[in-house]
Amino acid sequence: MDELEGGIRRVTLPLPTRPGHVHAYLLPGEDGWIVVDTGVGTPDAKEAWRAELERAGGPVAAVFVTHFHPDHVGAAADLHELTGAPVYQGTLDYAQCELVWGNPAWSERLRDWFRLHGVPDDVTAELVGQSSLYRPFIRYQRDPVLVEAGEYLDGWELVAAPGHADGQLCLVKDGVLVSADHLLPRITPTVGLWPASRADPLGDYQGALRRMEELAPRIALPGHGDPIPDPAGRARELQEHHRLRLEEAVTALGSEPKTGYELSFALFGDDLKPGSRRFAVAETLSHAERLVNEGAALRQEDDSTVSYTAA
Ligand SMILES: [Zn+2]
Repeated sequence: MDELEGGIRRVTLPLPTRPGHVHAYLLPGEDGWIVVDTGVGTPDAKEAWRAELERAGGPVAAVFVTHFHPDHVGAAADLHELTGAPVYQGTLDYAQCELVWGNPAWSERLRDWFRLHGVPDDVTAELVGQSSLYRPFIRYQRDPVLVEAGEYLDGWELVAAPGHADGQLCLVKDGVLVSADHLLPRITPTVGLWPASRADPLGDYQGALRRMEELAPRIALPGHGDPIPDPAGRARELQEHHRLRLEEAVTALGSEPKTGYELSFALFGDDLKPGSRRFAVAETLSHAERLVNEGAALRQEDDSTVSYTAA
């Protein structure tokens, strides 16, 4: 556990996949700690949390989940059991959490969706298998307290940060932003189109980055990596990154229709493991849809395939 400014504590939990760790934060509140994010609900997660909370001392007033990805929501039910504290989660985020993790038919839906975007059947089977790896370790809290951007949790304002996850919420107070996976140092947060995600995740993300520039927090505490000393500058870098990626995508699209799967090779190369190809396809699609919205690309769609051409 690391002590940060303003009495904030950082707990670093191991992850079996890249980037190898995730940070949770303990924010001091009037009535006790606000625990932000939980790590994955592996069998030893609960014991690890028990030790960390003992080290921190004092009661836990609230558990807050920024978004429903396994490394953020996975041990929410464990933390609730340990502390008795209510779990707070955004309304949209919880709906998607249930849709993905509470739904045995999700794998089928994901399989159909990859097929629709041109992924061959054998690769689809691998991609869907990869996405199920975390499933046994996701112990999200059923019926959490649902919250919205603009509300406050013990003095911390909840800020909408869609893109990486549609319903992601960050917290901000006195210039300190708990940014979860909205702003990360060095690595670029993935922004993907998924079944049942909002129509234009990259457009959402660009808007959220612009708002982050205006908010201009003094420091951001991310879900992975070191604190970010210039969050507005990082938000500008990420916008520039996506501007360049959109240019690459437009160049890679020609008059011949390309599926998201085909286009992902032009953008991400052909040397990807299945777990990474899954995100590459989703991210390629978020760029293709942004281009459609900008009028730079066209989407063709029939019952079996979605493809894109340059406009
Ligand atoms: Zn995430």
